[in-house]
Amino acid sequence: MKKLAVVAFGGNALLRGDQKGTIDEQEANVYETCTHLVPLIRQGFDIVIGHGNGPQVGNVLLQHEAGEKLYGIPAQPIDFCVAETQGSIGYMIEQQLRNVLIKENLERDILTIITEVIVDKNDPAFKNPTKPVGPFYTKEQADKMAAESGAIFQEDPRGRGWRKVVASPQPLKINNVKSIEKLARDGQIIIAVGGGGIPVFWVEPDKLQGIDAVIDKDLASSLLAVEIKADMFFILTDVPKAYINYRKPDEKALDRISVSEAKRYLEEGHFANGSMAPKIKACIYFCEHGGKEAVITMASELGKPDAGTVIYAE
Ligand code: ADP
Ligand code: MG
Repeated sequence: MKKLAVVAFGGNALLRGDQKGTIDEQEANVYETCTHLVPLIRQGFDIVIGHGNGPQVGNVLLQHEAGEKLYGIPAQPIDFCVAETQGSIGYMIEQQLRNVLIKENLERDILTIITEVIVDKNDPAFKNPTKPVGPFYTKEQADKMAAESGAIFQEDPRGRGWRKVVASPQPLKINNVKSIEKLARDGQIIIAVGGGGIPVFWVEPDKLQGIDAVIDKDLASSLLAVEIKADMFFILTDVPKAYINYRKPDEKALDRISVSEAKRYLEEGHFANGSMAPKIKACIYFCEHGGKEAVITMASELGKPDAGTVIYAE
């Protein structure tokens, strides 16, 4: 029987810290990341790709804002902007992965699925929004918008201004997940839950609606991996492994850890909130819901025997 893997691309797969984000830069990054999927494909894995969209969705929000100011084109809400980035990033991955596969004499269809992910309006995260999104404003602008729309703004810790913060609720259910699984197990490479998925909720028992929120892409990808009963779950980021005592003199790379060790290190605060902690949580979730092993690593390590930090189910 063939094996199924979910591979979550981090921000670095698309855009590096020192880059502006031109199409040439993004295409080159995506191409490079996709070359590292070849060993997995050759090992017989069917593949579903998830990806982040942090910088991209921030830019799209800015574009909407500028369009409204300059041309009176109504700015669209975050769920709409996430959908835009699923399309544009999916397009880049489809095209660059296809270019890689042609070189490797591999034939696969590659399909991007615009993916809605259902969240709960009563999720406690909505009472305590933490995720900064979109442009920076002056305090006066932020106060005015807060009064008008009820949105919440917080001062940037690095002094760049005030920024809207939205909730990062728990992903509960992925729409069309059965079709994603079917297509992937049939050998197609599927790109789904981009940017953590488009956040939607049941505004009435029979009516879905988008909501201002950002779903963590690591958690959404791990829910996807569980729902499609993936054999492996890979989180690709810009560090080769997770570390304890990260960036301290006694820093130590983690090779293989059990779920209970992962939980202990998490409680001891070894993994930063908003970066490594959600990845560890996503791996724990996968291993506690039927998955065997999850790996956190860099794309270039894929296929190597001791790649990354492996978290295994007990
Ligand atoms: P991505 O876009 O891949 O989600 P993030 O920046 O969110 O990237 O997460 C990766 C970052 O997590 C690394 O660049 C690293 O600086 C940070 N990090 C925080 N704690 C740790 C840790 N204990 N071990 C490894 N990396 C860590
Ligand atoms: Mg991240």
